[in-house]
Amino acid sequence: MPVATDDIIRFLEEKESKEGALPEFLKFYQQLLHVQSRVERNLTSRLEPGLSREAINKRINSGVPLISFDELALDWPLLTSTFDEVKAVFAGHAELFNSSLERLAALSADTLLARQTLKTWYEKQKLPARIPVKNVAKKLINSIIHATMKPFLTSHARKLTDFIDQGRWRRGYCPICGGSPDFASLDTERGSRWLLCSRCDTEWLFQRLQCPYCNTQDQNDLSYFTDDAGLYRLYICKRCKQYLKTIDRRQTEGRILLPIERFLTLDMDRQAMEMGYKPH
Ligand SMILES: [Zn+2]
Ligand SMILES: [Zn+2]
Repeated sequence: MPVATDDIIRFLEEKESKEGALPEFLKFYQQLLHVQSRVERNLTSRLEPGLSREAINKRINSGVPLISFDELALDWPLLTSTFDEVKAVFAGHAELFNSSLERLAALSADTLLARQTLKTWYEKQKLPARIPVKNVAKKLINSIIHATMKPFLTSHARKLTDFIDQGRWRRGYCPICGGSPDFASLDTERGSRWLLCSRCDTEWLFQRLQCPYCNTQDQNDLSYFTDDAGLYRLYICKRCKQYLKTIDRRQTEGRILLPIERFLTLDMDRQAMEMGYKPH
């Protein structure tokens, strides 16, 4: 089961009371989580799995994710208000993104939440080539859309995750939403590798000796580095020049909240990029 957003909120509150004020990027993340948690609570009681067990198995066997864009039950008024709240959180921390409050505050839900824009984002994992936004980097717009859509995707994913036959999927994209992984963990039982969806936080089983981005299995292209404590691994692929941050659950008895590990390991991103590798 994916980590509950409220557990991450509690983790950050405890961290704050133990260590004092959180760094700016964690404060930003904390505020975003509050917005996303409210939306998840609103949606959870209303959503149904929507697919029969048979339909789920059929899609899993043929590599089709369980939710297509048209099957996402998007509540547009809620989506619009979520966008406004998310935008305000980004605007309040604009300096983290080399932007300004005014520029971010000027973004309009009317242009960014157009059905076709979101459909393109969902299916291609990027925004349409021509998106009518001035003065804000496209990468940042992408992050705002991502953060807005996130609670909708996680709420849908939670209804479906238990029905996935993990042994039958094993693909480089998410079985629920088709998103790419941006983190991974090695499990305590056998050190099997589980990928974490960057969009809906679903985890799925994937071969350790294969790159999930370009699918190469050539061992000359694949390697990893570990940190001093052996807790983290940075998997790199020389073929597609991308990397994947990974935590080894066998190395700790503490509870791991995977979604927040993305933010606690930013040094690994820096290292990977210095070595010439890109995030997916
Ligand atoms: Zn997903
Ligand atoms: Zn690769």
